[in-house]
Amino acid sequence: MPESFDLLVIGGGPGGYVAAIRAAQLGLRTACVEEEELLGGTCLRVGCIPSKALLESSEVYHRTLHGLQTFGVHAREVGFDLAAIHKRKNAIVRQLTRGIAGLFDKNGVQRVRGTARLLAPDRVAVRSAEGEETVWTARHVAIATGSVPATLPGVEVDGDRIGTSTQALAYPEVPGRLVVIGAGVIGLELGTVWSRLGSKVVFLEYADRILPGMDSEICSKARRLFERQGLEFRLGARVESARVVEGGCVVEVQGASSLECDRVLLATGRRARTEGLGLEELGVRTDERGRILVDQNLATSVPGVFALGDCTPGPMLAHKASEEGMALAEFLARGHCHVNYEAIPGIVYTDPELASVGRTEDELKQQGVAFRKGEFPFSANGRAKALSSTDGLVKLLADQETDRLLGAHILGPRAGDLIAEVAVAMEFGATSEDLARSCHAHPTLSEALKEAALAVTGSPIHL
Ligand code: NAD
Repeated sequence: MPESFDLLVIGGGPGGYVAAIRAAQLGLRTACVEEEELLGGTCLRVGCIPSKALLESSEVYHRTLHGLQTFGVHAREVGFDLAAIHKRKNAIVRQLTRGIAGLFDKNGVQRVRGTARLLAPDRVAVRSAEGEETVWTARHVAIATGSVPATLPGVEVDGDRIGTSTQALAYPEVPGRLVVIGAGVIGLELGTVWSRLGSKVVFLEYADRILPGMDSEICSKARRLFERQGLEFRLGARVESARVVEGGCVVEVQGASSLECDRVLLATGRRARTEGLGLEELGVRTDERGRILVDQNLATSVPGVFALGDCTPGPMLAHKASEEGMALAEFLARGHCHVNYEAIPGIVYTDPELASVGRTEDELKQQGVAFRKGEFPFSANGRAKALSSTDGLVKLLADQETDRLLGAHILGPRAGDLIAEVAVAMEFGATSEDLARSCHAHPTLSEALKEAALAVTGSPIHL
């Protein structure tokens, strides 16, 4: 007879597994249903982690090939073994997913393997791969089923030559010509990987800029740097179709000549994954994009049923899902929780990296918020010089009246690590003066943040 739980989490990604572990730590009897063999969801299996593994391998190769002379170092016969690159990536994924299984054991989270469907707010049927169904009961159910790649009319995804990020993480050979539809986060990261390994990469982007939604000034500087690396952007491109033909693919673009290529990566966004869960039958409300609507405690319209992560509104980011997972567990165990959606960083792991937190300059202007801006270029930072990575800048935005930090946008080396300082500062309601008066170790990249903070009131030291 299946057990009854305090919390049954559907989905073992960064939202679901964190919710389950935290709930168990707080004393709730917790189970997590996951249909895949490996825990960790899209992020660990076919997203954040394998893409970072490929980005690192391709960067080491590319730097060794093109960037060593600057450092006074020579290397002969630089090459790479794609099978070994994939093997390393797979080993990293395996280790991390096993790590989560270990954390479940350590914390007493029961893993249930199969596909879940809600029968009632407190009853969940789980179907195994063999078709056997078991019904579990729980006081609370949390839906953390994530997202899947969006499709595009006319683009005939065959899961091989025309595919999504899942295929692009595992191409068996370097495509000679790769067309990427969508110059968003996925397109830029994976386009960068294959470009560094030798592909000619062309982006077809519907908008008139790359990375819509991020700070436009930072993104247009980034685009120029990416173009210098050989990436080609066709903006305002409306893709009509993409199909496999003898020996390759053809992509038709409205009002422009068609493109022939070896592979197509469709990267035009992701959509919430909520089909087959029985939501409609139960009356769980969703929005026009199929995302599950939740309140500030992650509660859906049906009492006892909660939802979090990519299947709910908000940025589709692993760390946003994890924050919500923690919050939900704390709400169920202690009756209160809080997620600060104003301080969720976003990072693009290109070279240089882009990182942002809070509002963009464009948003502040649109909202009529009076603000002050402080900028500092990495070309004036000693550590960046020593690294030979001087492209980019830090931009800080602070409220004109109160000086509270409203946003930070960084283009530059290790921007993704640097942004953490501003995210923490914003959590504490810090001002630009607080950052400017904090001692930053020398010589570090973080000094560019202090200098940008000094620049908010007009007086950096090293510029
Ligand atoms: P995205 O929303 O970041 O970018 C999609 C891009 O496709 C946009 O630039 C959009 O204008 C463009 N587009 C949309 N329709 C188009 C069309 N018909 N023709 C041409 N271009 C079109 O989506 P993504 O890159 O697919 O990523 C999906 C999600 O995964 C995002 O929410 C992202 O935040 C998340 N993700 C995050 C990271 C990270 O944090 N580093 C990495 C990968 C993915």
